[in-house]
Amino acid sequence: MLIILVGLPSVGKSTFAKRLSKELYLRGVDNIVIGSDVIRECFPVWKREYEEYIKNTTYQFIDSALRKFYVIVDDTNYYNSKRRDLISIAKRRNKDYMIIYLRAPLDVILERNIKRGKKVPNELILEMYNKFDEPGMKYAWDRPDIVVDTHREINFDKIVNIILDKGVKKSKIEKNRKEDNSKKQIWDKVDKITRDVVGEYIKKDVVKGKDIRVILKLRKEFLKNLKSNILNDERCLENIRSDFKRFLNERLDNDK
Ligand code: ADP
Ligand code: MG
Repeated sequence: MLIILVGLPSVGKSTFAKRLSKELYLRGVDNIVIGSDVIRECFPVWKREYEEYIKNTTYQFIDSALRKFYVIVDDTNYYNSKRRDLISIAKRRNKDYMIIYLRAPLDVILERNIKRGKKVPNELILEMYNKFDEPGMKYAWDRPDIVVDTHREINFDKIVNIILDKGVKKSKIEKNRKEDNSKKQIWDKVDKITRDVVGEYIKKDVVKGKDIRVILKLRKEFLKNLKSNILNDERCLENIRSDFKRFLNERLDNDK
């Protein structure tokens, strides 16, 4: 699952991400926190022209981590275009996603920012605050699953439960989809085996003329009877060819 944090600088995202990561781990979920700072801080200085590279590399990092772990994205993600990019990474990997929106009163945010030494100028936070695309305001896909007020006590148990519930629901869907797929594959094989046998009978002149219609009908009948039985796994396939031939031989003989 991809967990996308959204919030202004100094609202408490990194603090929240660290704690959430620990809590998820304690509940058995292997996870990783990734933010663009991880890449940004690899450079000796900051330049605007590095940002494109930083963004793309962060996306690649998230994408490969998603194959193995829950990923918590620790970035402001305050443009909805960023959130859309992240969501499409999750979708491409067939993973679920969640948006957690962290907020606090502006004066609290600015005060925290001053306290930690104004890594980001307060003016920039103000500007972002004014331009901020609150998640869910414009698009339904962007609606936050959880809103956290970091000025109040945070109930991590509740948050972890919501995340785990969503993960379980998704994995059930995934499991059903896999089961349906493998059933379909088995049916495709049965379909082919029985077609092959019919082809073989026609080719070897075991049936000819109007009997061809009969054998086609018998094939349908055989498949219909099979459907009510259970074709659970590949092992059922082993005997299909001989079962079908026996079925045909009995009926074709009876007709004669
Ligand atoms: P962000 O990653 O959003 O920029 P940080 O997690 O680095 O924010 O937090 C910014 C400052 O606010 C830090 O000094 C941190 O200790 C403090 N802080 C973060 N979360 C809380 C909280 N829930 N309550 C009080 N202070 C917090
Ligand atoms: Mg941070």
